[in-house]
Amino acid sequence: MTSTVVCGICYHDIIIRDARQWCTNCEEGLCEDCEIVHRSTENTRTHKIISIIDYQHLKDVLNSEKNIRDIKSSAEEFDKQEENIKKYIQEMREILNKHLNDMEQNLISDFLEKSGSCKIAYANTTKQLISKNDKLAKLKNETESLKRITSDEQIFLGTRRIYKVVEQEINSMKTIFNAAKSYEINLELDSDIFQHF
Ligand SMILES: [Zn+2]
Ligand SMILES: [Zn+2]
Repeated sequence: MTSTVVCGICYHDIIIRDARQWCTNCEEGLCEDCEIVHRSTENTRTHKIISIIDYQHLKDVLNSEKNIRDIKSSAEEFDKQEENIKKYIQEMREILNKHLNDMEQNLISDFLEKSGSCKIAYANTTKQLISKNDKLAKLKNETESLKRITSDEQIFLGTRRIYKVVEQEINSMKTIFNAAKSYEINLELDSDIFQHF
């Protein structure tokens, strides 16, 4: 409001004079003399002329309206950016969720496959040992009934035969024991796994 407006018409002739009025049609300031000419000349007679103070006020109002518009549009732009970032974070979250779900599924199925084969091996060994154990129990019964019902010579021959079988069975049990593995389950994460994130 403090800046001085110069007369536009005088300025064309390189004369600096303060404008008193403003022509809203020509959009330039008019000094006192030029205003008189402006109002009397046929072409410019109908132009709307306002005081320079009104013009300054008008300019301030227009400027502040423009400032408000600018601020509003930059606030809207900011909201848009905020929305985009939120959306991006959400998308990243979904990608990570999917990735973790896939990883979990893969780990579980791999783990179940491995633990399943260990369980089968345990079950097989146990089954074999139980059947050997049953056989040994039968042989023990056989020896006892032999002792009860037969002569000493028959006992000697019979038990020799039975002990041979017992020895074989015990050896075979030892073989099963030695072949049997003791399993241990551990989970180790490859540190490379986190490089995908
Ligand atoms: Zn002038
Ligand atoms: Zn004019």
